[in-house]
Amino acid sequence: MFCYQCEQTARTDTSVGCNTERGNCGKDAQTSDLQDLLIYAVKGIAQYNQLARENGKADNEASNFILKAMFTTLTNVNFNAARFTAMLQEASEIRDRVKAAAGDKAASATGPATWVIPSEVGELLAQAEMAAVRSGEAEVGEDIIGLRALILYGAKGVSAYAYHALMLDQQDDDVYAGIEKSLAFLAEEPADIGALVGQALELGNVNLRVMEMLDAGNTGKFGTPEPSAVRVAPTAGKAILVSGHDMADLAALLEQTKDTGINVYTHGEMLPAHSYPELKKYDHLAGNYGGAWQDQQTEFADFPGPILMTSNCIIEPGPSYRSRIFTAGPVGWPGVRHIENHDFSTLIQAAKATPGFAQDGDDKTITIGFGRDAVLGVAGTVVDAVKAGAIKHFFLVGGCDGADSGRNYYSDFVEQTPDDTIILTLGCAKYRFNDQDLGEIGGIPRLLDMGQCNDSYSAVQVAVALAGAFECEVNDLPLSLVVSWFEQKAAAVLLTLLALNIKGIRLGPTLPAFITPAVLDVLVENFDIKANTTPEADLKSILQKAS
Ligand code: SF4
Ligand code: SF4
Repeated sequence: MFCYQCEQTARTDTSVGCNTERGNCGKDAQTSDLQDLLIYAVKGIAQYNQLARENGKADNEASNFILKAMFTTLTNVNFNAARFTAMLQEASEIRDRVKAAAGDKAASATGPATWVIPSEVGELLAQAEMAAVRSGEAEVGEDIIGLRALILYGAKGVSAYAYHALMLDQQDDDVYAGIEKSLAFLAEEPADIGALVGQALELGNVNLRVMEMLDAGNTGKFGTPEPSAVRVAPTAGKAILVSGHDMADLAALLEQTKDTGINVYTHGEMLPAHSYPELKKYDHLAGNYGGAWQDQQTEFADFPGPILMTSNCIIEPGPSYRSRIFTAGPVGWPGVRHIENHDFSTLIQAAKATPGFAQDGDDKTITIGFGRDAVLGVAGTVVDAVKAGAIKHFFLVGGCDGADSGRNYYSDFVEQTPDDTIILTLGCAKYRFNDQDLGEIGGIPRLLDMGQCNDSYSAVQVAVALAGAFECEVNDLPLSLVVSWFEQKAAAVLLTLLALNIKGIRLGPTLPAFITPAVLDVLVENFDIKANTTPEADLKSILQKAS
């Protein structure tokens, strides 16, 4: 195996990448190789579907399969080798179908499109080298391989968001075409730096559309997020915990647990659910439990009920809760029960059979729900406060969280921001500091939680609206982006920000291992992208530049 797709990849003084029997996330070599092969097969489907699209015969079911297959290979999503073997057989059948739709044009497709996919796992694994992410490095060098990886990992993130949008009944042919174009491009083993950078930015634009669809899906089904106090303490009674990003799963579970007496708690990236009117209307959506994903082994062990993982990030379930954790959608762990088609009856039975919380906890709350409508609803006040000098600067501090000790950077950074600054946040990075009381400026809370990582779309809309109010470009606003990345959804968001020509992003806690020094030079030259240093030095530099 070789994998360097996430921030916690293995690094030594001389090498990067997880390349032993097991990656740092717990993914074993067999699963990693099968994931690479699935991506290879999916590239072949994309090649043919592109051609079928030219014939007016694009196969949307094949496109949906691509989304799910790509999503399963994200960090901390699916560790079940058997699921990948099964998906490879499905990929083979789908590819044959799409090849037929491509007609005479199919003959022009080479590489992954023509791979004969074996059905036996040993034969599959024997071919893993061909599909490895660094295949061909001896010929093209590490910079080209790094740029190809940037596109692939970005495409994985875009696919994951598009899958979430699909679960909310949002589809767009242009998005399918954009994702498949990227995969078909990679299938051709491109080696031109300019073309690779261009394709990466094009994918960033596709992701902007996908985040817009996801926003439309969430607000269309669940209403506009509104500032809401969320209880972060238990309520006595039976309990289910829901983690991940898929609010469609949560909505279905809330409906199925109505009138059962079971309380439903959110975890991790599901926290923003409490700000949506059509979800918060359920009295038994009782609160949020725990923090970011990396603490789940201790938090889940202590939770007195079953747990549902709807998407990333799952890590190896400990023995004390392995029998009461369930997966859904793209998620998988060997031996863990998987729920299909929103039928949560076994989960509900498990909740009835477990003790639940014996008593109420303290009345502690946090406030969330500052989506773009809430923020823009006070835009006049914000603009006046900036003009009067009461607000000097905005920081967007958000993205993913992780176990790395260097991630204290984000809590330290927020703690040290001056009192006349506002912090916008999103993604699970906020768990580093969302219990801090930063006070208010003229009635506006200094810390505004905008939601999930995909709510970067809201942040972009707010930035564009503020730029309009100040009659300047977004890059001229007193706004700095301090982005915490961990996995491939963050790679997709980064490509979107770059496609929007947002400059001066600070990226950390460490730069992606697939960004080689030469690729970093390109990013610095074109986008002034910066690596984190220390909170003190970075804050000083940002505020000096702004003054
Ligand atoms: S997902 Fe991350 S931790 Fe897991 S094998 Fe890949 S690089 Fe390593
Ligand atoms: S924001 Fe990133 S790290 Fe956090 S749960 Fe989502 S995918 Fe995982």
